[in-house]
Amino acid sequence: MSTRATARKPAKAAADRHRTPPAPKQPKQPAQPRHFAVIGAGIAGVACARTLVQAGHKVTLFERNDAPGGRMASVDTAFGRFDSGAQYFTVRDPRFALALENTPGVCKRWSANLVRVLDAHGRVAEAALPSLEPHWVAQPGMDSLVARWAEPLGDSLVTGARVTQIEPDALDAKRWQLRTAGADDSQHVYSGFDAVLLAVPPSAARALLGDGGKLSATLARKIAPVRIAPCWTLMIAYPQANQPNMSHLGPQWNAARSTHHRVAWLARESSKPGREPVERWTLQASAAWSEEHLRDAPSRVEAKLLRAFAEITGIYATPAHAQATRWDEAQTQVPVGTTHLWDAKARIGVAGDWCTGHRVEEAFLSGLSLALDVI
Ligand SMILES: Cc1cc2nc3c(=O)[nH]c(=O)nc-3n(C[C@H](O)[C@H](O)[C@H](O)COP(=O)(O)OP(=O)(O)OC[C@H]3O[C@@H](n4cnc5c(N)ncnc54)[C@H](O)[C@@H]3O)c2cc1C
Repeated sequence: MSTRATARKPAKAAADRHRTPPAPKQPKQPAQPRHFAVIGAGIAGVACARTLVQAGHKVTLFERNDAPGGRMASVDTAFGRFDSGAQYFTVRDPRFALALENTPGVCKRWSANLVRVLDAHGRVAEAALPSLEPHWVAQPGMDSLVARWAEPLGDSLVTGARVTQIEPDALDAKRWQLRTAGADDSQHVYSGFDAVLLAVPPSAARALLGDGGKLSATLARKIAPVRIAPCWTLMIAYPQANQPNMSHLGPQWNAARSTHHRVAWLARESSKPGREPVERWTLQASAAWSEEHLRDAPSRVEAKLLRAFAEITGIYATPAHAQATRWDEAQTQVPVGTTHLWDAKARIGVAGDWCTGHRVEEAFLSGLSLALDVI
């Protein structure tokens, strides 16, 4: 990777495409600060929560996992980290570029010109993706960006708290209260919220809106058509490749889209900036294959994807580490069609990548626009 490319800032890259970017909309100071519950600490929820706090509101952000990040996820292994969810992101909107520029040192450019397009037999069909759009990664793992953005939220971020129900506040029917369950099944009730903002995948949003969308029939109707495809992901490590005079095993490219019926994407994790040097690959199965094998045991999926990996890359060595993980909701196929949803009467909103698409940037913009709408 050239140092020149690495030094190029996301804001600069976006500005090159948007010669006259619109000035970012500044949050107004609220006449009356309100208390918002934001559910889900992926990039959408964190962008939303931070914007509300910057505008002077009180926020409690609930996350069922132990850390923020959502589908911008990293898995730690004895051989180094893997990005088990989002692999990289692109920056097209000046608001996203500006937010990244205000977070120096976390994101770096990952050589886009090494992304290949492969045919079903693993042969290179196109030397590089047609677009020269820069690919960015957070370091040391994709979760690092959301973790950094969540830092200023401090105790407002409640992790290990899966929201199980939204209901009218027992003491004030004009407000909401939330029931949560922890990993040990501990139950809590948090009350006094003026509004509730859902930044969770659609299955969780549907469940929280209640049977027949009883909390907001309008929102339930708008999210009913949304479809998201699952994705089986395989992470493999080959420490044996890191021997003197042997930089890595197999192909010379670092990432590829593939038309193999099982595999849609492959990436050499060790080629990303700020990663450990041990040879590691992440494979994402195609949406159709993932759907077809959704209920298969991880060991069976691992064996099938390893075989596909060998067919595509020519690497037949047995990995020292192999781990298959399943995302039930990975990539949006039918989005909502608007950046976010807000039911002012019910005081419930919805954000997430699936409002407009399936990219990290769309998730950020969705969380931001929901916050700006309710401020
Ligand atoms: C395998 C895979 C590969 C991808 N590759 C790319 C890529 O290369 N480039 C790209 O731009 N995008 C990619 N994406 C998409 C990208 O990851 C998403 O667009 C983005 O991370 C979505 O952010 P979000 O905040 O909308 O949702 P999420 O990241 O899903 O965040 C939702 C959060 O809500 C939490 N939650 C859910 N239910 C509850 C509940 N009841 N109570 C409390 N918390 C709850 C979840 O734990 C999660 O943290 C990929 C996704 C996957 C899965």
